Amino acid sequence: MEIEKLLDNNASACYQCEQARGPGCNTFKGVCSKSPETTAIQDHITWLCMQLAAAAVQDRAKVTDEQLVLFNRAMFTTLTNVNFDDDALMRYAEDLTAELTALGVNGVNKSAAEAVATLKDYGLAHRIHKFGETVAGLRETVVYGIRGAAAYADHVFVLEGLDPVRKETWMNVEAMAELNKDDLSVDALLGLTLKVGEANFGIMAALDKAHNAALGQPSFAPVNTRPVEGKCILITGHDMDDLHKLLEQCEARGVNVFTHGEMIPAHAYPALRKYKCLVGNYGTSWRNQRKEFPLFPGPVLFTTNCIMPPREDYKHRVFTTGRVGFPGLTHVANGEFESVIAAALEAPGYTKADVEAANAESPLLVGAMHAEVLSHAGKVLELISAGKLRHIFFIGGCDGSTPGRNYFSDLAEAIPDDCLILTGACGRFRINRVKDYGDIEGIPRLLDVGQCNDVFSAIKIAVALSEATGLAVNDLPLSLCVSWFEQKAVAVLLTLLHLGIRNIRLGPSLPRFLTPDALAVLADKFALKPTNNKDAKGDLADMLAGEH
Ligand code: SF4
Ligand code: SF4
Repeated sequence: MEIEKLLDNNASACYQCEQARGPGCNTFKGVCSKSPETTAIQDHITWLCMQLAAAAVQDRAKVTDEQLVLFNRAMFTTLTNVNFDDDALMRYAEDLTAELTALGVNGVNKSAAEAVATLKDYGLAHRIHKFGETVAGLRETVVYGIRGAAAYADHVFVLEGLDPVRKETWMNVEAMAELNKDDLSVDALLGLTLKVGEANFGIMAALDKAHNAALGQPSFAPVNTRPVEGKCILITGHDMDDLHKLLEQCEARGVNVFTHGEMIPAHAYPALRKYKCLVGNYGTSWRNQRKEFPLFPGPVLFTTNCIMPPREDYKHRVFTTGRVGFPGLTHVANGEFESVIAAALEAPGYTKADVEAANAESPLLVGAMHAEVLSHAGKVLELISAGKLRHIFFIGGCDGSTPGRNYFSDLAEAIPDDCLILTGACGRFRINRVKDYGDIEGIPRLLDVGQCNDVFSAIKIAVALSEATGLAVNDLPLSLCVSWFEQKAVAVLLTLLHLGIRNIRLGPSLPRFLTPDALAVLADKFALKPTNNKDAKGDLADMLAGEH
């Protein structure tokens, strides 16, 4: 990385997602379209969170629940593709500054202009210059893991408040506070990454419980992917509570709701699919939104990431809510979606002709969360012992636009018929239309475990199989091929490493923030390896031969 050049230009840099390019992705503008100014404000927010964390661990009794929630929400808002609105971001910075003042920490107030002007003192280039690439990269890994975990924790706050994840929020605060020390070793930083992974495991478990309590136990459900006549709204992101509120408000108004991207698992929950107005899923993963949204005949509501800069031809009908922000879009607060419904009523919606002209498409199956899959555990074990089920693959994670991601579809397509595939997160859309996977004696071969946080389900399934077979999880006929893109995937990866899961294949490229030295440590300790994008079939042969 050309650090000196970055410092000379007083430019901001960012390498937190898989799209990162060049000497600091957004010297002028990020691949995601983030400006250096936005990065500077996000860096400032992150630094303020570090100061808040330090003050919190010094005097825990003084810390309020509101301060813990603010720490978390501020971290969430710096995640890739969540918030591009500098004014909204500065409000988080101001709130953090006010809370720091309340905790007796002064001298942290900065305007947006000052945050940008002082980049040399705290931006990524400065951090790499100060700590060296390996240590700086591991420090960033801790921060990115906390950002990802914060996104999941925010959903828990909305559903059940802070209590179910209080312990884990404190663990992340403690890890963040440690980053104020300049002399952290590689070993100490690895310990912090695993601590964040442990916190994220607890958060994903709490979110699983909260979703089940609020929405019922998910089960297999076929999802319609064809148009349905009538006015309609498209909801994307990850927030099931926002969808629930939207459905309540749309049901009486005769407005249909389609899910998009990471909202498709919603159809598995009884309390959501009971609404007649939840009519199907439209489109695929976030990366296709600029192609798909112009063709949808109604407004689009973004509940979380991943938002891309909207094109002019559909910008006027995109709404954001929660932590999401983009300049020029209408932001809806407090789950009151009347403005979105009004936009749907004004938009054309799907006509009878649209329905007749649509291609025939078979429904997609969702709902393979742990309780549903484990209700078939007896049959799965019977198939394994009869030699009719050879191997189980997890192929999923974040989707993205960078080259090499065909690996995941090539792999899924080549997997033999006597194997099951678990999938989840928006990476599912790389594989769920590749072919008709069929079933093995009634067990669907492609099992969609849900959103990225529902990797928790995949972990529960693996642990149950381990207990039933007496084999350690790492000795099961199970291989994990994880696609990563942003910081939720970092949090999930850290969770898997915290649990001691070895032999994960990660792709389509390894994170830029992990140097060869850091990767060598992870390869040694956890046998973490890159996907061989040019030879999915070679990887498959290795995995089937027991080399995971
Ligand atoms: S979030 Fe990703 S694409 Fe955006 S500036 Fe950072 S590294 Fe680049
Ligand atoms: S799974 Fe990751 S890449 Fe996909 S929409 Fe969610 S945050 Fe974005």
